[in-house]
Amino acid sequence: MSSKIRFHIFESASTFLHPGKGFTPVTEKFQVRVDPLTGRTGHFSHFGAVRQQKLPLEDYLKPEVKGFCPFCKENREKTTPKFLKEILPEGRVTRNEATLIPNLFPYDMYSGIMIMTDDHVVPLERLDERRLVDAFTLGIDFLRRIKSINPGLPYHVMSWNYMPPSGGGLVHPHQQYFATEYPGNQFMDEINASRQFHETHALNYWSELIKEEQTEDKRYIGRIGDSHWIASFVSLGILGEIMCIFPDVFALDDFTDVHINELVSGVLRIFKYYRSTGIFSFNASLFFGPESQKYFSCHFRIIPRTFLNMRDFAPDLNFFQALLSEPISVMLPEKLCEDVRMFFHAQNTWA
Ligand SMILES: [Zn+2]
Repeated sequence: MSSKIRFHIFESASTFLHPGKGFTPVTEKFQVRVDPLTGRTGHFSHFGAVRQQKLPLEDYLKPEVKGFCPFCKENREKTTPKFLKEILPEGRVTRNEATLIPNLFPYDMYSGIMIMTDDHVVPLERLDERRLVDAFTLGIDFLRRIKSINPGLPYHVMSWNYMPPSGGGLVHPHQQYFATEYPGNQFMDEINASRQFHETHALNYWSELIKEEQTEDKRYIGRIGDSHWIASFVSLGILGEIMCIFPDVFALDDFTDVHINELVSGVLRIFKYYRSTGIFSFNASLFFGPESQKYFSCHFRIIPRTFLNMRDFAPDLNFFQALLSEPISVMLPEKLCEDVRMFFHAQNTWA
């Protein structure tokens, strides 16, 4: 049976007279890829031109840099909000260090922030299994609670900005959990295209994608239990994107503690890869579709973020993403997969 999924790559090149090579002609290649689900394009160019920058983590603790942090233990009780009694009778809930509070700047009607740690600055190696399991468990519980309060909000999202290059307003580790009717253009394009794929082929796109990536064996990183980890064909991040798909999880209620453990196990492996390559910051999201559908599987995405330099803190997003809504990446997914695979095949993490 021929595949229902097509991976289109347009390859081209630009030739110019290079000043460092005596103004002789030099040809630089680039690619444009088409996302097999949504048809949205992504550029791949500037290969090797972006170097991840080391963040001065120790400086973030200096009083003149740190400033006031409402998430720090000594300020939390007085300066963070509490939920209404009908949403969360306790006001705030905790599980070990993880503490759930309402967002003072809400994204939607029910918008929670997960303060993940007591410590203000937590490098990747200290975002350990316990801290991650606690945060995800408490966060998913919160999403279930707001789903029972207001089932009319169909989409559930976890989002996470870690460290300043990611756009995170506070260094103190935190995630956002919210339910919404408006989960963003990327999410809506994907869910609409997934529905269309299902109507056309009577198949779940996400399960087909896993099969196709396993067969091609160029971007399939590995499997942990029910989770499948893939270097995305079109990357939303400049240094590549890793996606984790739970093909049989369609809505929030399908997501169990076992899935949380599998997610955390994969995230810890990615953190090891990040540490090995000098990545200090990322964005991540976990998406759940609505009830009563079998075409939009739960998935997680994570992309590294970096300043382009530490001289003037140029961000790694520019007119491409901001005005053309076009992702651009300097890392080919096939190379990313090759680099990350060894961390998924190592025996030193549990699955
Ligand atoms: Zn803090």
